[in-house]
Amino acid sequence: MIVLVLLETYFPEREYTAKLKGRAYLTNLLVFGFNNSIFIAFNIASVSLIAYSYRLHNSFDLLPVWGQAILGVLLLDFFIWLWHLSNHKIDFLWRFHKAHHSEQFLNATSALRFHLGELLLSVLIKSVILIVFGISFWIFVLYEVLVTFFAAFHHSNIRLPKWFQLYLERFIISPNMHRTHHSALRDEHDSNYGVIFSWWDLLFKTFDDRQPKNIGLVNISEKTFFNFLLFPFRKK
Ligand SMILES: [Zn+2]
Repeated sequence: MIVLVLLETYFPEREYTAKLKGRAYLTNLLVFGFNNSIFIAFNIASVSLIAYSYRLHNSFDLLPVWGQAILGVLLLDFFIWLWHLSNHKIDFLWRFHKAHHSEQFLNATSALRFHLGELLLSVLIKSVILIVFGISFWIFVLYEVLVTFFAAFHHSNIRLPKWFQLYLERFIISPNMHRTHHSALRDEHDSNYGVIFSWWDLLFKTFDDRQPKNIGLVNISEKTFFNFLLFPFRKK
């Protein structure tokens, strides 16, 4: 995260005022601290482990280790893609996910900016995936580590050489692809739902390579930490 923040500071794709950048970094770090305090205090990570102990079968364990890793990461990435798409299509889920989209200065720490409500719901979804598919728990942990890195990368404001970006997009979500996903226009932000691999968006035709004029949400300005927490419960 620190390396990515340094890179986006010295090689920015888009320019922003120091004030906007400072507020975004501060809000995201506070959100991260708050979410993790709740997760630790209520031992929420153990929910996935409990779910895993109730898996419906153990056919996953019969595969060789490399097979488990490849299939497990692909399965999880596909279902997280589907979950992200649902967050945009279902109004109740969008209320929470919208808080993440309230970011105007897209940066590496935007990957930490998720509403607690959305994170709690995603723990339940991941638990269902573990129960149904019986994906080995170490693969689930591996996937979570990979997501942390790739999400920080694709949210970052780093300027990449065009040839490298285009090459990357054949396999994984680039910062350019994810910037479209943070467009203020619904038509543009209902696209590029992928977390690690770009294949699901290419396969299901939700890929969009237009570059947005404005990032964030229409008529909603940058949120402070407390505004962020109350965001899903606002009338409009
Ligand atoms: Zn989204």
